[in-house]
Amino acid sequence: MNESFDDLGLHDDLLARLNEVGYKTPTPIQAKAIPPLLAGRDLLGVAQTGTGKTATFVLPILQKLATSGDERRPKQPRVLILAPTRELSAQINDELATLSEGMNIRQTVVIGGVGENPQIRALKKGVDVLVATPGRLLDLVARKHIDLSGVSVLVLDEADRLLDMGFVRDVRRIVSQTPSHRQSLLFSATMPKEVAALAKEILNKPERVDVAKNEITVKKIEQHVVEVPTQDKQRMLELLLRDKAVSRVIVFTRTKHMANRVAQKLDRVGISADAIHGNKSQNARQRALDGFKAGKVWVLVATDIAARGIDIDGVSHVVNYELPHEPESYVHRIGRTGRAGATGVAYSLVDPAERKRLRGIEKLIRQTIPLLKPDLPPREPGDEPEVLDSNRRRGNGGGNSNNRSEAGGRPRRRRRRSRAAA
Ligand code: AMP
Repeated sequence: MNESFDDLGLHDDLLARLNEVGYKTPTPIQAKAIPPLLAGRDLLGVAQTGTGKTATFVLPILQKLATSGDERRPKQPRVLILAPTRELSAQINDELATLSEGMNIRQTVVIGGVGENPQIRALKKGVDVLVATPGRLLDLVARKHIDLSGVSVLVLDEADRLLDMGFVRDVRRIVSQTPSHRQSLLFSATMPKEVAALAKEILNKPERVDVAKNEITVKKIEQHVVEVPTQDKQRMLELLLRDKAVSRVIVFTRTKHMANRVAQKLDRVGISADAIHGNKSQNARQRALDGFKAGKVWVLVATDIAARGIDIDGVSHVVNYELPHEPESYVHRIGRTGRAGATGVAYSLVDPAERKRLRGIEKLIRQTIPLLKPDLPPREPGDEPEVLDSNRRRGNGGGNSNNRSEAGGRPRRRRRRSRAAA
């Protein structure tokens, strides 16, 4: 195992930059993947956010751009990085900007939900690296604002999530417009057969690097299950959040509607919270994230998709208000805390109806999550119990009106309502 960035074949100016940024030693995926990438190989990286995977592809890309001598051309990016969500795109863009500081690299992000004109103007001037989500990218390609024939490196990040979100055809269309002699990299946290099939289509004799899913995140995180009926979850959440050790928290819900609701209720009891989910405009999402990063609100309530890949330092706790459908999402969620060597704490509020889901998670992480039994004070007179159906339709048709959860696209069974007689 390489212990130092010096051994990986990176140029001195990149090594100097890593030093400035404070990356002292390569993470396992960086140590394993950077040398073959520098040698021009394709890569299949089985790794999730938090493993240092972004720098794994950014560093060889920067080295290639700096040494290739190719000219930058209008509308023709030389590198294309495809990501499933706007937040992840923004984060990749940030890492690129950080690591390329002082180099003559032009980068831009093409994502939906924000005005297209600045994106079109940047493309026209010529960019080296384009970070994009599939929908807006294809739109601009169709309207001839982007020409993918000059792409020499293609990265698909979080391929499993790209497919989960229904982008498989878009991805194929995009790939088909890039030259076949490109270098291709595919990263995925999980490797279901659809992703394996896509990898086979896109990659040419790839080097495969697996970073064990559970090692990175789960080990460092103190995990607890709190058994609590759904109608008491909000009160339990408030109780947990009032602990002084809790300084910056991400609370996960399965639906957008529930995220809004939990955030509003926390705000009402004086716990400053904001929600982030796919129904909010890009600007509103960014505002919520910025407020959270700056410490203006210390609780962010998020759905899986919106929170995917978000990299915020100093998240002391993650709370699963509801367990996710897919056990892998649990690992992603709790990975938002305990980053970069710090320890974190994850609480999961589990209604008896969610026990099966909990068993799926425990099987995946190969451990039993210890039970915590905080004393929930008795309900105050006039306290309104929670409505059990977390995803009920709203009269105004807003929110998640198709009654599906955001992450899985799976229809949710309607549960019995138990609004207590007022
Ligand atoms: P990623 O998995 O790419 O989302 O990276 C997770 C976090 O680790 C980001 O905040 C990176 O800036 C940071 N990071 C990446 N590589 C290193 C490294 N070699 N040393 C320290 N931090 C790193």
